[in-house]
Amino acid sequence: MHCRFVQIAVDTPLDIFFDYRWLGGDDAALPAVGQLALVPLGKREVIGLIVAVSEQTDVPPERLRDVIALRAQIPPLPEPWLALCRFAAGYYQRPLGEVALPCLPKKLREQKPLALERALKKLAQTQASPSTVASEAPTLNPAQQQAVDAIANADGFTPVLLHGITGSGKTEVYLQAAAQILTQSPAAQILILVPEINLTPQLEAGIRARFPTVPVATLHSGLAETERLRHWLSAHLGQANIVLGTRLAVLASLPQLALIVVDEEHDPSYKQQEGLRYSARDLAVWRANQLGIPVVLGSATPSLESWQHAQTGRYRKIELTERAVQDAALPAIRLLDSGRNQLTDGMTAALMAALKLRLERGEQSLLFLNRRGYAPVLSCDACGWVSNCPRCTAFMVLHLSERKLRCHHCSLEMRIPRACPDCGNIDLQPLGRGTQRVEESLLSHFQQARILRIDADSTRKKGSAQAAFDAVHEGEVDILIGTQMVAKGHDFQNLTLVGVLNPDTALFSHDYRASERLFAQLMQVAGRAGRSAQKDDHQSEVLIQTRYPQHPLFAALKAHDYGVFATALLEEREQACLPPFCHQALLRAEARELPDALAFLQQAALLLAPEGVTINDPIPMALTRVANVCRAQLLVESASRPALQAFLREWMPALRTVKTRVRWTMEVDPADI
Ligand SMILES: [Zn+2]
Ligand SMILES: [Zn+2]
Repeated sequence: MHCRFVQIAVDTPLDIFFDYRWLGGDDAALPAVGQLALVPLGKREVIGLIVAVSEQTDVPPERLRDVIALRAQIPPLPEPWLALCRFAAGYYQRPLGEVALPCLPKKLREQKPLALERALKKLAQTQASPSTVASEAPTLNPAQQQAVDAIANADGFTPVLLHGITGSGKTEVYLQAAAQILTQSPAAQILILVPEINLTPQLEAGIRARFPTVPVATLHSGLAETERLRHWLSAHLGQANIVLGTRLAVLASLPQLALIVVDEEHDPSYKQQEGLRYSARDLAVWRANQLGIPVVLGSATPSLESWQHAQTGRYRKIELTERAVQDAALPAIRLLDSGRNQLTDGMTAALMAALKLRLERGEQSLLFLNRRGYAPVLSCDACGWVSNCPRCTAFMVLHLSERKLRCHHCSLEMRIPRACPDCGNIDLQPLGRGTQRVEESLLSHFQQARILRIDADSTRKKGSAQAAFDAVHEGEVDILIGTQMVAKGHDFQNLTLVGVLNPDTALFSHDYRASERLFAQLMQVAGRAGRSAQKDDHQSEVLIQTRYPQHPLFAALKAHDYGVFATALLEEREQACLPPFCHQALLRAEARELPDALAFLQQAALLLAPEGVTINDPIPMALTRVANVCRAQLLVESASRPALQAFLREWMPALRTVKTRVRWTMEVDPADI
């Protein structure tokens, strides 16, 4: 008998490791760092991660408990993966156990290893033949070729910002760079991150068609747990050469990782908004740096952070300025002044005429409105009553087809009142318009047209979003109405008109990132038009209805010039000392009563002397109350990232000692403030 002690990280909010004794026979596997082990914790048995193995311990023998079982069926998690978790834990101020364990598949953390053993058996059966790379790839234009060469021949850590206009063939660059790397080293692994699950089937099909014999794994929250375990294992065992996934895939174990691609790198969904609030893009860059491999950040509208890095030379910028399909041209962007022109059902005559023309020609149109439901508010003209949510500082949205008022923040639903609750007036009016109301107007104006609405309400059922997009691709739809769900990625071949309704609220938002996001969104949605070769002289068009056609954002958009816009915005940010020129952390507090949340933040602000950082005053969040919980925040900023990190390292332990019933969270590099 040989006795050893292991230190184990488990998924708890306590920032400590636990010591256990391991008693194993000579023939049994030895515990190793990175291995998973089943251990007793209080009255439970949980899977933990071994972070150290030693011959001794400071814990007295009577308090030591024994490891129940090692998960020796799979190799230990590799050191670079542990280092990634340690970095994420340190940077985002979370205990290691709360980072490392939740990112493993649930089925791997079960007490009995049945699912694990079944998955391993299945993987052994599907052991692929040595991977070969298919050759049938389209010819690249010179800019694409330059990008592929830069990525595939990279020597060491090479961050590449691939700035390509919509439809310029960025995906083709990723695929051919991957093909070159896999030809050079057949065991290599390539991680491709995408923002949304609804984009994955299209890209996945493209990858499988291009690499028919290469094992591909997918990782996203839409997978069933058994599938997720199998895909995760095939990545961890080095079987899968290509791993395609959403943000959580950046934390997968990939022992042979040779290239990371972050597609649409500017997309807000790379930011995790609960638990470990990480940026998958930032972790991807860190991981590439750690391994000394290339990382490609692709976008038509890069984040200002990445753009700034390219300007200062930290990232190599490669531009794709032409559409990949020959004779496909960028759409002409026109602004329609919705303040000066008369509107019928919220639409200008010019937009109506453009829709009519597309119908006559048998081409498709897309109307983009980032507001679902029928109308954002129901109101009473007689007394001024509006449909406030009783639980939130927000309006209840009118959903006419479901005959409900619904709060989009707390999901509260109620029947539409027959009369004003305050004065009894029976003539209640919808204010403003959402996608359902636009759909209704279009149906009355274009009775012959096939009209389809795609938003979170119309695609609640599993698979319904895909079916809806398929219908558009099959040409079964004349006019598509949608929210941001339709703006991203889709390659609609017969779409020649994009209409944008009311983008104005984002122009004057309290959130300093709103205009950056609006620009990206409009450029994305505009990019849905004119992706195939133009027929005759039918140029595709984007018509934007706005009350502020003079706004500089639109001038840059019309010129399809992201660079001009980004440069102007960076200057503004520098003058205002906003990211990327400063670094931020946000302490958020939630309580039944707002004063309690604010008082906690006030107390938190006084815990430490602010060295090298600025601690702002606590303020209520813009959306102060959600589901009867009041929310407030305290912003800490510094021009120096190390100074901010040093402050947080001292502040977090101090915060943990504060006795309070207020729920609080810390977010480093917050996306919304
Ligand atoms: Zn009333
Ligand atoms: Zn609500």
